[in-house]
Amino acid sequence: MQYVSTRSRSQVSSPEAVLRGLAPDGGLYMPLSFPKPFDPSALTGLSFTEMASRIFALFLDDFEEIPALAARAYRGKFDCPDVTPLRKAGRRYILELFHGPTCAFKDVALSVLPHLMTAAMRHTGRSEEIMILTATSGDTGKAAMEGFRDVPGIRITVFYPYGGVSPVQEKQMTSQAGGNVRAAAIRGNFDDAQTAVKEIFTKGLPAGTGTVLSSANSINIGRLVPQIVYYYKAYSDLLAAGAVSPGSPVDFTVPTGNFGDILAGFFAKKLGLPVGRLICASNANNVLTDFLQTGLYDRNRPFYKTTSPSMDILVSSNLERLLFMIGGEDCGPVREYMDSLRTSGSFRIPAPMRENIQEHFSAGFAGDAAAARAIADVWEKERILIDPHTAVAWAVADQLPDTGRPNVILSTASPYKFPAAVLNALGQDAAADPFGLMDQLSRLTGTPVPKPLASLKSAPVRFTDVVRKEDLYDYVVSLTAGSRLQDGASVTG
Ligand SMILES: *Cc1c(COP(=O)(O)O)cnc(C)c1O
Repeated sequence: MQYVSTRSRSQVSSPEAVLRGLAPDGGLYMPLSFPKPFDPSALTGLSFTEMASRIFALFLDDFEEIPALAARAYRGKFDCPDVTPLRKAGRRYILELFHGPTCAFKDVALSVLPHLMTAAMRHTGRSEEIMILTATSGDTGKAAMEGFRDVPGIRITVFYPYGGVSPVQEKQMTSQAGGNVRAAAIRGNFDDAQTAVKEIFTKGLPAGTGTVLSSANSINIGRLVPQIVYYYKAYSDLLAAGAVSPGSPVDFTVPTGNFGDILAGFFAKKLGLPVGRLICASNANNVLTDFLQTGLYDRNRPFYKTTSPSMDILVSSNLERLLFMIGGEDCGPVREYMDSLRTSGSFRIPAPMRENIQEHFSAGFAGDAAAARAIADVWEKERILIDPHTAVAWAVADQLPDTGRPNVILSTASPYKFPAAVLNALGQDAAADPFGLMDQLSRLTGTPVPKPLASLKSAPVRFTDVVRKEDLYDYVVSLTAGSRLQDGASVTG
């Protein structure tokens, strides 16, 4: 399978697309021809890993080792055998995506990406060191550091917004083990971090560093493809439970930031999975709600820090892929939209295109107060503890008319990553340190603190750098130069 950039038609193989992450023209990689739809019953009843290897093979057919790779990626990493369990919650379903090593849905893809990159290096015969640069709104950073920890030939640096992630998220990153990992705070918000990192990609490293850059953000096609799998798994589980009959559609409500998770749902629909509506749920940073309702994308608006920080995003990168798909895979208009977004902060799509998108997507947003009410509500009625991101999705689902179709809420993080917000929502004072709060939440609800989070308290902090966004390029270059001076020794920070 060949991949093309959303901004020009130059082609690369799937291993090359995975290695590069972002195309040199700033665009995102898409399959040259999208895999043909197939009957979803072909995957029904398979294990998560089997489903994963079938789906990976559709998009990444240049990799010979896919079945073994999928098995290796998930073995022993998730605390439940079916990786992404589905729970009934009243009339709805909750798809729990946070059973991996860092307790957020990013683990599902970032358990696979390091294996894909290593295989891609072998496949392309590259000998340079890969340096992964990743901007994170909180969860990608940790999941990527954990996934790439001590992977030979690869180093990873993640940048998170200074003061813009939860204390638990921050400690997860700053205490991460591994000789090839590093985290730094960046002065600014997530959009600043993402833009600065993208600029480093476009500019490229100076010659002679012996290093190639790559990305672990959801702009990497190797991140997106694994996220398709749980839409199939959820559908298969609904069939097994008799909650849906073969072929009848199911809605998915997705707490959305960078538009990667929900776009994977659209990929699943294009592959033939009976998806009714994809409901894009935003927090107070509701740029996507407005876009999906009006066709005008306008990031010129206040940026809010909310209780769902992983969705505090005003520039949703993966939307570019949707524009490419809906716009007949025509690069010209995509380039114009993205240029306009860069220069004026906004762009508008034509009405027929908006209507086309609206055939598949609904949108809504919920502020912190509505999300808090959802946390309390779901706990009281269902005895299920949800995190503030999942709560945004739940609250948005509450606003929309009932379609009669099953509605699956994607649950993207463990509530224990955001104990202060969850305790407040349950009417408790939450003044103590975040680790005391985890215990408080556990005592209150009788639910266990996930193991990977419980051990954080005593983990020593390894990384304390705070970088200005203007200095990011030099900072990154200094990391590569440092590695050369040390003659291949790893940076342990
Ligand atoms: C990353 C993240 C999201 C948003 O996912 P996108 O793919 O960026 O839209 C939602 N919730 C949590 C907990 C996340 O970590």
